[in-house]
Amino acid sequence: MHKIYLDHAATTPLSEEALTAMLPYLKGVYGNPSSLHIWGREAKQALEMAREKVARALGASPEEIYFTSGGTEAINIAIQGLARNFSSGERRHIITSAIEHHAVLDTIGYLGRNGFEVTILPVDQFGMVDPEELATQITEKTLLVSIMTANNEIGTIQPIEEIGRICRERGVYFHTDAVQAIGNMEINLKKQPIDLLSLSAHKFYGPKGVGALYVRKNVGVEQIVFGGAQEKKMRPGTENLPGIVGLGRAIELATTDLEEKIRSLKKIRDHLIAGLLQIDEVRLNGHPEKRLPGNVNVSVLHVEGESLLLSLDLKGIAVSSGSACTASSLEPSYVLLATGLDNYTAQGSLRLSLGHGNTKEDLDYTVNAIKDIALKLRAMSPVILK
Ligand SMILES: *Cc1c(COP(=O)(O)O)cnc(C)c1O
Repeated sequence: MHKIYLDHAATTPLSEEALTAMLPYLKGVYGNPSSLHIWGREAKQALEMAREKVARALGASPEEIYFTSGGTEAINIAIQGLARNFSSGERRHIITSAIEHHAVLDTIGYLGRNGFEVTILPVDQFGMVDPEELATQITEKTLLVSIMTANNEIGTIQPIEEIGRICRERGVYFHTDAVQAIGNMEINLKKQPIDLLSLSAHKFYGPKGVGALYVRKNVGVEQIVFGGAQEKKMRPGTENLPGIVGLGRAIELATTDLEEKIRSLKKIRDHLIAGLLQIDEVRLNGHPEKRLPGNVNVSVLHVEGESLLLSLDLKGIAVSSGSACTASSLEPSYVLLATGLDNYTAQGSLRLSLGHGNTKEDLDYTVNAIKDIALKLRAMSPVILK
């Protein structure tokens, strides 16, 4: 069976180049970067080279980069670490948006139950945060604003430069979850007023279980994990050197010829969107233009996304649905609901996230498959058509 992977927002395959870079560190070079002998020094050198690659890709300096075990951990260290540093002061207000990843929402939710005041900004029908509304919510108590660079479900790209500028003017720290953004849009911390940024290797063809946190110089993040002195105590524990080397190589590749990659991805994305919109009662979710080059999210009305997903799986096509089957009930995506979709429409949604290796032919095949399945499911549907 011909297999088509359209779930790159969930994870990407490890690139051949990243694997090749990692192999020596899984086989011959096994020293601990903290050791003083030649084995250790060799490992340490690889660690610092990877740090330089990440810094270069982001327009940061190597001292501002901390390796973590992934996006979730980077986000936790950024938000909890900043909160801990300010926990005795007056600045105990955090602002975020309704469509953040759970790593952000749950971390901030935890702080909200532990003495912090939390403001969750709504988004518009396209999933956009309004910077002016954000500005009105900032008070002298506000410590941190955390708004994602781009959304993992609907692909909407937020006005992070404007948000960052507002935060800077008002003396508020700005963290962005850039996990979906790396390799899909330009990030340049020399120009973008961002104080803290989280990223994860497995979303841009690097290995799983490794990520990085950028902390701008002089931003005080206190440690939340205790142990050794690795990563300047920000993330103690022996480093995942093969993973970190893979991350370094992957981010280098992800940010090379970026414009060209974005252009070609957008081209097949728009081809897919056009094809899907030809099907009866299909609507596009997210922003029509300000969206990730590989993201397509549609609602196929009168169909359950989960059923559609499983039928596509039988045909060898991997996608993601906007609902998660939890304890025998279908929970529609909170992201889609936040954009104003009703439960019924949100439940019929499907995310197709494109990446390396997807061809126009694959996408045409996918459109036809969705069309066939939707017709069959709608014919069987007990739901009264609206
Ligand atoms: C995948 C993802 C994360 C979590 O990253 P992990 O490395 O899997 O922990 C956080 N935020 C967004 C937007 C993501 O897509």
